[in-house]
Amino acid sequence: MTTAAVLLAIACAAMALLLLREVLRGRAFRAAAREREATFDLLTRHSADVVSRIDAQGRRVYLAPSAERLFGRAVEEVLAEPMLEQAVPEDRPQVEAALMRLRAGERQVRVTYRIHHPDGRPVWIEASGFPVIDEADGQYEGAVVIARDVTERKLAEEQLTRLARTDALTALANRRHFDETLAGEWRRMQREGAPLSLILLDVDRFKLFNDRYGHPTGDDCLRRIAAAIALHARRPADLAARHGGEEFAVLLPNTPAEGAAGIAERIRGAIEALGLPHDANPPTGVVTVSLGIACAKPAAAGSMAEALVAAADGALYEAKRMGRNRLRLATSIPPPPMPPPVPVEEEARLRALVEFDRAGAMQMGDEELERIARLAAALLGTPIALVSLVGRDRQRFVAAHGLDSAGTSRDASFCAHLLASTEEALVVPDAALDARFAGNPLVTGAPGIRFYAGAPLICPRTGHRLGALCSIDQVPRPPLTPAQQAVLRDLAAMAMATLERRRAVAEALLA
Ligand code: GH3
Ligand code: MG
Ligand code: MG
Repeated sequence: MTTAAVLLAIACAAMALLLLREVLRGRAFRAAAREREATFDLLTRHSADVVSRIDAQGRRVYLAPSAERLFGRAVEEVLAEPMLEQAVPEDRPQVEAALMRLRAGERQVRVTYRIHHPDGRPVWIEASGFPVIDEADGQYEGAVVIARDVTERKLAEEQLTRLARTDALTALANRRHFDETLAGEWRRMQREGAPLSLILLDVDRFKLFNDRYGHPTGDDCLRRIAAAIALHARRPADLAARHGGEEFAVLLPNTPAEGAAGIAERIRGAIEALGLPHDANPPTGVVTVSLGIACAKPAAAGSMAEALVAAADGALYEAKRMGRNRLRLATSIPPPPMPPPVPVEEEARLRALVEFDRAGAMQMGDEELERIARLAAALLGTPIALVSLVGRDRQRFVAAHGLDSAGTSRDASFCAHLLASTEEALVVPDAALDARFAGNPLVTGAPGIRFYAGAPLICPRTGHRLGALCSIDQVPRPPLTPAQQAVLRDLAAMAMATLERRRAVAEALLA
């Protein structure tokens, strides 16, 4: 063989070897790919999580085989439907919002919603979406969505919420549920301008019932009464609740007083008709209840639901006093507080106030002002005294004696009533009896104001009334003597002079 032939043979052998290596490599590659596919298939078919891919328009373009179990339908069928339509109509807004958040570039979006299931049972899905962004142009291309069935968890949560709102003995709503519903319905009736009625009822001589028949029989009796009450709270918005102990409440939205009285009388009759023996409850000798009814038209902002409960409670007390086994209708509910009148030159007054604010004169902590407040309390003998400035929405305390607070809303402010007045002082001997203040949250709630005496702080440069120096007590008191009024006015003038000095000093420093 020539040298050339030998070289050719070697080259051919080398080529054949290279070719063989490439063939083997290709085989291994395809086998690995097949294995990866099988693993992926295994995972997606048997995993509890359902992996899917949606496009930029929210259409599903891939859905893992395990979806069949979740949706109870063939994958192809689910895939053919827009994702949004799979959600029950009530939950679609959430799903839509989640898709929008993904489009807006949020890195992970989670949404829990219900889907239609062929069984008709509710199925809750928790879906987490991760956006897919085109690396080249940064465009949103769709998302990878991982969904799982969270029905069991959701049902358990719902059950817990129901339990937390239910009274264990009677299965009626509990006190917490009642308080929440009352607040919500009060606001709703306020918006709708409709009346809200409340029945409070209390079992007659129940202590004696327990003494005579034993506590377990007492519990049984409460259950029977609860069932009778529940039968009469028929409309979807009505709420029957255990208000505490042997006292129950029925909340009747959109119901006038006469309607509530009719329902109350039927409840009273139904409980008497149960015929549960109660020897110590004359004259019937059976278990009876007394009922108090109150009805209010939740009016202006600030009027309170608590006043409705207090009025029904008062009526219930009356029904007990008049002999039990009867109902009483509350005649009056404390009126909503009147907003303080606005002074004529309000904008100019607020501008004058701004100068004090700018000078830092509206901050608390001035020793001189604290001393004046202390003096006012001591000289008038009240536990609380305040120096306050009334702004557009709030009254700010610039000095407080006997009260740990920085201010209150202008609507509730007593001092604000001095702004539009020309009186030298405002004296309210008993706020609970004064139409302007009886329903005021500062009277019915903390700090429980009953007595108020205030003198205006009058700006020496503009003549505007900026606020007041006032003395407050939690019990009613007689009106001020002329000498006490003079003291209050003098102290108010001192407080104003102090504020003005603070303003002038700050202005000089700034200049
Ligand atoms: P009145 O007619 O004035 O309402 O008299 P009363 O005895 O019903 O009034 P009072 O409020 O003094 O007594 C209420 C009693 O109700 C006291 C308590 O022993 C009983 N009670 C409160 N809660 C329960 C309860 O859950 N089960 C039972 N068995 N008794 C209760
Ligand atoms: Mg009671
Ligand atoms: Mg009772």
